[in-house]
Amino acid sequence: MNLIFFGPPGGGKGTQARLLQARRGFVQISTGDILREAIAVGTSLGREAQRYMDKGELVPDVVMIGIVEERLRRPDTAAGFVLDGFPRTLPQAAALEEMLGRLGRRLDRVVDFQVSEATLVRRLSGRRVCQAAGHIYHVEFNPPRQPGVCDIDGSPLYQREDDRPETVRRRMEVYRAQTAPVLEHYRARSVYTVLDAEGAVEEVSTRLEAALGL
Ligand code: AMP
Repeated sequence: MNLIFFGPPGGGKGTQARLLQARRGFVQISTGDILREAIAVGTSLGREAQRYMDKGELVPDVVMIGIVEERLRRPDTAAGFVLDGFPRTLPQAAALEEMLGRLGRRLDRVVDFQVSEATLVRRLSGRRVCQAAGHIYHVEFNPPRQPGVCDIDGSPLYQREDDRPETVRRRMEVYRAQTAPVLEHYRARSVYTVLDAEGAVEEVSTRLEAALGL
């Protein structure tokens, strides 16, 4: 299956995409993870992206479209992919359409993760991420066995710079102004699927798999 996970920051897209990759083999394509890796390695892409990310702004469309096309061309996506965090603007959605056509791929579902604003704020403020591979935890809702240490690879957990309250506010504004309108592009189509993304990780996962007919 080829999927788009659509929703606000803290909606649970990354957590669910990682689970689906582990359980079903659909490859997660997280544009945020790709950018964070580029920052960690110190590439020129990383240096450019960081200027936007630290402010909670979007990285320019041309940059993001190039990254996604390159990723979609890799053969591991043939078994299915989950786009997590892309498209985030109308030009990105148009470019994706064009790109999928050219690559001879089709979209099976666009999953709209619906969560209350109160939940988003609680999830983002308690989110912790592992340094080695980006595994996602929450200090209260999904804590690691040992505080501050990743269960999977033992690497230290950190709080994303853009999960601090001032930046979260800006990311929410950017979501409403630039990303939410992208939903209109998909809402009227048969691929559009609503997901109640409130609740615990496993609850949401069960609902998601049911919604996808898995
Ligand atoms: P995320 O991990 O999806 O929350 O993304 C973190 C940050 O990376 C965002 O706030 C943006 O600055 C940048 N980013 C990720 N995906 C995109 C995208 N599709 N378009 C523009 N910027 C992006």
